[in-house]
Amino acid sequence: MNASGDRAPADVRMRGFARRHTVEQAWQWIDQHTQPLPSVTVPLAEAAGRVLAQQVVSPLDVPSFPRAMMDGYALRGEETQGASPYNPLEFSVVGQSLPGRPWPGNVGPGQCVRIMTGAPMPAGADAVLPVEQTQCQGQVMLAHGEVPPQKNVGQVAEDIAQGQTLFEPPRRLRPQDLGVLSSLGLAFLEVVRRPRVKILITGNELVPPGQPKGPYAIYDANGPMLQALVQRDGAELTGRHMVADEEAKLREHLQDPQADVVLISGGSSVGQEDLAPQLVAQLGQLAIHGLAMRPSSPAGMGQIGSALVFLLPGNPVSCLCAYDFFAGRAIRRLGGLPAQWPYPQVRLPLARKLVSQVGRTDYARVVLQPDGTVSPLAVSGASILSSTTRADGFVIVPEDSEGYPEGTPVDVFFYDASVSPGP
Ligand code: AMP
Ligand code: MG
Repeated sequence: MNASGDRAPADVRMRGFARRHTVEQAWQWIDQHTQPLPSVTVPLAEAAGRVLAQQVVSPLDVPSFPRAMMDGYALRGEETQGASPYNPLEFSVVGQSLPGRPWPGNVGPGQCVRIMTGAPMPAGADAVLPVEQTQCQGQVMLAHGEVPPQKNVGQVAEDIAQGQTLFEPPRRLRPQDLGVLSSLGLAFLEVVRRPRVKILITGNELVPPGQPKGPYAIYDANGPMLQALVQRDGAELTGRHMVADEEAKLREHLQDPQADVVLISGGSSVGQEDLAPQLVAQLGQLAIHGLAMRPSSPAGMGQIGSALVFLLPGNPVSCLCAYDFFAGRAIRRLGGLPAQWPYPQVRLPLARKLVSQVGRTDYARVVLQPDGTVSPLAVSGASILSSTTRADGFVIVPEDSEGYPEGTPVDVFFYDASVSPGP
């Protein structure tokens, strides 16, 4: 059955698409068929960028003892009252407290302990007089300034309190999160398992880069591009295979996918060589085939066993677009990440009009102009991959729009945050 409840057609090859699904319908299907994968335990140091699957409640106070926040002298703050460079007050230095090596005694009246940042405060002392406001002569310290009680002392639990909830799922862990988690003594974390993704690159004409090719062969553009996209979206690549346009070969890779997601580049349409839709329908379900969008209209999706399968047209721009619209969304959702594009989004006016058609979603590549407007690229055919490298980002023209006149503010998705002019 396909997404609209009809039987998938037996063989659509050379007959064209009878009707096309909307992008919205495809997103609905994806959202219905994806939820975060079960969690796995990973060592803390390997958890950066992973999606947290557990709540983290602090098992301890940080700091867990009162500590010096400056280098100087630990003493009773009230005893420094009236001290100044013109009226130095005398204290006797009775010891020294270093990080991890506290001074075990009690600081009495008129006494002080030399102390370093991070060192435990000795009993009896309640403030640290910074070294800059002191002068030391042997065992005597002259205070040249005042320090009130509690000043320059880090209090127990002032950073993190025992029992405090620090992180909740589905937080994507930042490097500084690992720092905080490590400071709580946690060595392992529960994170969402990464989706396992298999990439199949079909096309008899394709040759991997680095190898010689005949006059009518072309180098594979989609394999490395898809691999990078899959890794960006937090997945684990289980394999990338180049597959000839032969039913038996493709079947071999599809009948037991051993992956959460299979991406098939090429052969997704309704031509004689387009084997993928047929095979997916035979081995599982072809839920959606043919989309009301440009580029990527010959894209599709379905399931074989528990694996989601995405049919990505071979034209490199279509392949990128279909990945970003559909496969990427599924992979991110399986991995517990937000479904939205991981591209920074900025609203900017159009430098020129942008023409589209009602009834189809358009993925228009645009270039950021020095005046802060964006200009749609003139050369934008689905096979012109360099249009995506010349472009700084893209604009989506929704199905119900015929495009926008010059000057219209549009939402621009930037491929690279460093090119984005910022919100
Ligand atoms: P297909 O979707 O297989 O019909 O391919 C459509 C067009 O994209 C053809 O011109 C193919 O040669 C080209 N193409 C298919 N796969 C790739 C690829 N991996 N890299 C570059 N071009 C491709
Ligand atoms: Mg092909």
